[in-house]
Amino acid sequence: MTNKTAMGSKEELKKVIQKYIKEMISSVEKEKINELPIGTQVAIMVASKYNALPLYLGWGGDIAIRPDCSFIYWDDENQVCRYDVSLEWQIRSLSRGTEKYPELKVLLPSRSDFAKDCQLCGGKGKIFLIKYPEFCGQCLGLGWLDDFILSIKQSNKY
Ligand SMILES: [Zn+2]
Repeated sequence: MTNKTAMGSKEELKKVIQKYIKEMISSVEKEKINELPIGTQVAIMVASKYNALPLYLGWGGDIAIRPDCSFIYWDDENQVCRYDVSLEWQIRSLSRGTEKYPELKVLLPSRSDFAKDCQLCGGKGKIFLIKYPEFCGQCLGLGWLDDFILSIKQSNKY
């Protein structure tokens, strides 16, 4: 990729992320926000307070991406926002987020020549449990593994 293309796509991405954030906030009527599931309420709060698009909604908090492609983690338990989301969790949340926001796929690492299909999920990036598919923890939802992905995997630390 040339620098020019990279710059161009970055500007495009900025607009796309901003558009999704706006859509998310405006999709909710203010007086009805309390009727929404608590997880959705938190996601909308994160979107409006931090101008960020929630990608991963966890039990303890949400990981969201801002228009400048930086990541934040809203720690719901402690009511604080962190700006040092690990690369591992950036990828985990992108794997989820790209289902809803396919434009973000450009932010995922590209598969190297040395990558092998993930054995655990059979290269699908997801594991099918009883009823619902769950994103594969082994390959971060990518469906493949290489030295780079293995090197950034920590101990489930946000
Ligand atoms: Zn996998």
